[in-house]
Amino acid sequence: MSKLNDFLNGRCPRCGVGRVFVSRNPYNLSKMLTTNKECSNCHYDFIPEMGFYWGATYVAYGITVAFSVFNFAISTAIFGFMNSLNVTYVMVNAGLLFIFCPIFFRFSRMLWLWVAHD
Ligand SMILES: [Zn+2]
Repeated sequence: MSKLNDFLNGRCPRCGVGRVFVSRNPYNLSKMLTTNKECSNCHYDFIPEMGFYWGATYVAYGITVAFSVFNFAISTAIFGFMNSLNVTYVMVNAGLLFIFCPIFFRFSRMLWLWVAHD
């Protein structure tokens, strides 16, 4: 439970103390992309090699597809299958993806870092 808490709070995968991202708020758009170079507590390298986080884009892609399928399932449950195949679903889904983009971005980077953690 503690490790899950560390993950969700953007903490270091090794010690769980240092913060991976410069800003705690994912909606601080000027610092949304900024990752600390290393852990402030144990000096674990958050950027072990150039382009390390390219792999996180595939994770983010998977998250957005899963999120869109989930939204379509909700829409189908409420409005029916044929009524969900319209531009309203696409627009609402695009809006939700735009709103949740910073959270998905951080989640995918954290997942990539934690999976790669030795
Ligand atoms: Zn650490």
